[in-house]
Formats: sequence, C-alpha cells, structure tokens
Amino acid sequence: MKSYLKHYIDGQWVDSEGGARHEVIDPSTEQPVSEITLGTAADVDKAVAAAKKAFRSYSQTSVDERIALLERIIEEYKARIPDLAAATSEEMGAPIGFAQMAQAPAGLGYFMGTLAALKEFKFEQRVGKNRVVHEPVGVVGMITPWNWPLNQICAKVAPALAAGDTMVLKPSEEAPGNAVILAEILDKAGVPAGVFNLVNGDGPGVGAAISSHKDVDMVSFTGSTRAGIAVAQAAAPTVKRVHQELGGKAPNLVLKGANLPEVLPPTIAGVLANSGQSCIAPTRLLVHESQVADATDVVKGIMEATQVAEASTMGAHIGPVVNKAQYEKIQGLIQSAIDEGATLVTGGTGRPDGRNAGFFVKPTLLADVTPDMRIYREETFGPVATITKYTDADDAIEMANDTVYGLSATISGDPAEAAKVAPKLRAGLVTINAWSGGGGTPFGGYKQSGNGREGGKYGIADFMELKTIVGEPA
Ligand code: NAD
Repeated sequence: MKSYLKHYIDGQWVDSEGGARHEVIDPSTEQPVSEITLGTAADVDKAVAAAKKAFRSYSQTSVDERIALLERIIEEYKARIPDLAAATSEEMGAPIGFAQMAQAPAGLGYFMGTLAALKEFKFEQRVGKNRVVHEPVGVVGMITPWNWPLNQICAKVAPALAAGDTMVLKPSEEAPGNAVILAEILDKAGVPAGVFNLVNGDGPGVGAAISSHKDVDMVSFTGSTRAGIAVAQAAAPTVKRVHQELGGKAPNLVLKGANLPEVLPPTIAGVLANSGQSCIAPTRLLVHESQVADATDVVKGIMEATQVAEASTMGAHIGPVVNKAQYEKIQGLIQSAIDEGATLVTGGTGRPDGRNAGFFVKPTLLADVTPDMRIYREETFGPVATITKYTDADDAIEMANDTVYGLSATISGDPAEAAKVAPKLRAGLVTINAWSGGGGTPFGGYKQSGNGREGGKYGIADFMELKTIVGEPA
C-alpha cells in the first residue's frame, strides 16, 4: 500500500495538524491501495497563509517567466505519465491503457492548451481613454472530483499558474495519488514555494474550510451539484468568487433519419468510456419513434460487445465504477427504471457474470424510458444508456432541454441538420456525432451544471480580476 500521509505546503512535505488516516480502496479488488491523511482546518490555514505570502511575489512575475514555468512543468509531466496513469488506474478504476492514453494525457493537454493561450493572451486593452487590465485574482482554493482527476485538477492549476495566482488544492479523497505526483512534478519544475499547496482530505473537513476561508479569494470547484451548492453557501459570507463545474444529464438527440450504425457508435462511446463516469456522458438517447427498434438493436449490440475487467488488465474493456456508494447508486437507478416500467434490453442489476468482487457494472440499455422516470432525470454515472421516443422534432428539442442540468448535449445525425439544432440546446457544449470537446475551447455548464468556464484563454480569464484605470496620461 502506498502512503501519501503528508501535505505539500510552502514547498515542503509536512505532517498534518491532527488529521486522521484514510485508506483508498482499489475498486477492482475492494482492497486498500493507498493511504492519505484527511487534513484539518489548521492544515488549510497553514496552506492559505503560504499561498497568501507567495502571492506577493508570484503575482508580479512576468508573462515570459510564467511561460517558461509552464514549459518546464510540461516536460516534467511527460516524464511522469506512467506514474500518473498507474495511480489513477489503481485508485478510481480506469483501465490502465485508458489511464495511459486518456486520463493522464488529459491533464497534460490542459497545461499545453494553457501555455498556447498564455502566449496570445491580451492582458490589457483600451476602452476609450481608459485602460482595462487583467490581474490575478489572488489565492484560489481548488476542490476536485475523482472521475477525471488529473483533467479536473490541471484545468484549474494550469490557468491559475498562467494568471499569476497562488493556490491550495484539495483533490478527491477517492483518488489522491495522482495529485501527490503532480505536486512532485510542480516542485521539480521549480514552482516557487507557496504558489501551489496540496492539502489532502474530505469535503466536510478540508473542502468546507477552503470554501469559507477569509483569505481565499476564489474557490474553483468541480464535482456534484449537491457539493457545489454547499461550497457556494460556505463561500457566500466572504463574497469570494465561486467557480462551479457540476453535474450533467446530457441528451443524445438522434435526428430523424439518422444513419444509426454510423452515428451511434461514436456517441455511445461516451456512455461506456471511463465506465460512464464522465459529466458529459450522453446517456439520455432521444430517438424518433420510427427508429426506436433499430436504435435499440444498434445500442444493444454495442453494449453486449463491451467487455468488463480489472483496471490493471491492458485492453479495450471498461473497468469498475469508483466505489461501493457509486455502485449501489447505479444499481438503484437501474432497478427504479425497471420498477417504473422501462424495458431492460441488456445488462441490468448485479455484477457481470463470473464476478463476485469489485464494483463492476453491466453495460446496460433501458428502453421505453419516459421523462417522469428517475433515470431520465438523475445523473447515473455508470455504463447505462436509456432510450426515450419522440414524435415531433420540436418536441425533441424541448425534451433535450428538459433537465436542471446544462453541461453538454450531443446530436447524432446529419451534421448540417444538427448545426441548425445546436443553437437551440441550452448547454455549454454541443457535440455532433461525437461526445467530447476540443482543446482551447471554453468548458462549463448552463443552469445547475455550473458557473464559469475552463479551457484556453477563457480559463485564464476566469482566474483573473478586471481593473479599469481612468485618468492615465495618454
Ligand atoms: P463530489 O461532489 O462528491 O466531490 C467532489 C469534491 O468535492 C471532492 O473533492 C469532495 O471531497 C468535495 N466535497 C464534497 N462535499 C463537500 C463540501 N460540503 N464542501 C466542500 N467540498 C466538498 O463529486 P464526485 O463524486 O467526486 O464527482 C462526481 C461529480 O462530479 C459528478 O456529479 C460529475 O458530474 C461532476 N463532475 C463535473 C465536471 C464538470 O466539469 N462539470 C467534471 C467532472 C465531474
């Protein structure tokens, strides 16, 4: 078992002030794989003080210095991809090949995209006789989830470093190992002491202390809408900026007449990748009534061809879901759909045949799902797709938008027709015959999927303040 018992504060690995030990469970084996110390409010105080002190000098560094720093981080990160992938795979269950090809490189992608954006970023502009400047926001608290752990961490750390901010990160207690390795990378790349601090811990302990801290100027949160609301409430008395990347329930609007064998595989891939544990997974298929039978056949075939196996095995299979709570939530949602009258086409409750341990979920398709069912409304976060029929194209758009979430929406079908539908969908990302986004573009949600954007120049801007200067000599 790996031990990550210290926090990284002010450029040093230090003991916790009174924190308790916590074991991280490998979801493939249900055995402990690593241990951390759940930090305390006193640990957060120390980390915030270090970040506040470092802000004085780091906020004054030149853009060229920060470009050079990001370049050094990218080199160090590339060298540690095998370690980052292994830690991610063991702790949250992504198959090792997927962790090497997607999970670990996703974080690198944010550093590279931010570097490119920083080189072009316009830190000031004139508005009439006045000057408007972007300045770093200050100390940023960062709270991140386990599902794409490096992606979510680097989506915050890279733009904050580019902007001239200092930071305190609390990664998910379900997948902390990759964050510890990232701290080693940043240290080796020469990030000055106090600029980046890592305090491991849980939400009620460390997350709440960061959110409510008077010396944290901004909190950037990625996770569930439930916890995002708690963060915003805790942040309100200190009027800090709150940036939220929250849950989703993405529709996959299949346009009437779509060539199903062609357009469904690349979008159903988003339901299966990472065992369905992506906030943008397009699980809610809306299919014209004339094509429901054919779509059901195509998706059933994809689900039944999908293998499920341990995260440590190399191959194109999917792994387990992250933990027991997540496993049970998915089981409950599948059962609720059946109880409410949906048709189980393939998969269902229980582990895949031959498995009696590990949090493995059967790739599942439910048809005859209606908008009043829980599974149509609640984020599933598992390899589970649903099919709901529509009769009229305008109704289908209403159905796609009929969710409290607005993170992403997928359209399957003729790209020219899809392009006409895209402006009508209330979501921060619309993908046509695909399920994931593009580098350098803004990422974030409408409605209860969040506030603010990450990615490229938009991400850098969100980690900055704007100042207007009036009366300067011409
Ligand atoms: P979660 O909300 O349970 O936890 C996320 C983080 O918040 C963890 O670090 C956790 O310790 C912390 N936390 C929990 N309660 C807290 C509290 N009261 N105060 C402060 N911090 C608290 O989410 P999760 O299960 O780790 O991740 C899955 C969720 O994340 C899904 O809902 C998914 O859609 C969402 N997500 C969103 C995006 C996005 O960009 N919009 C990306 C990935 C995941």
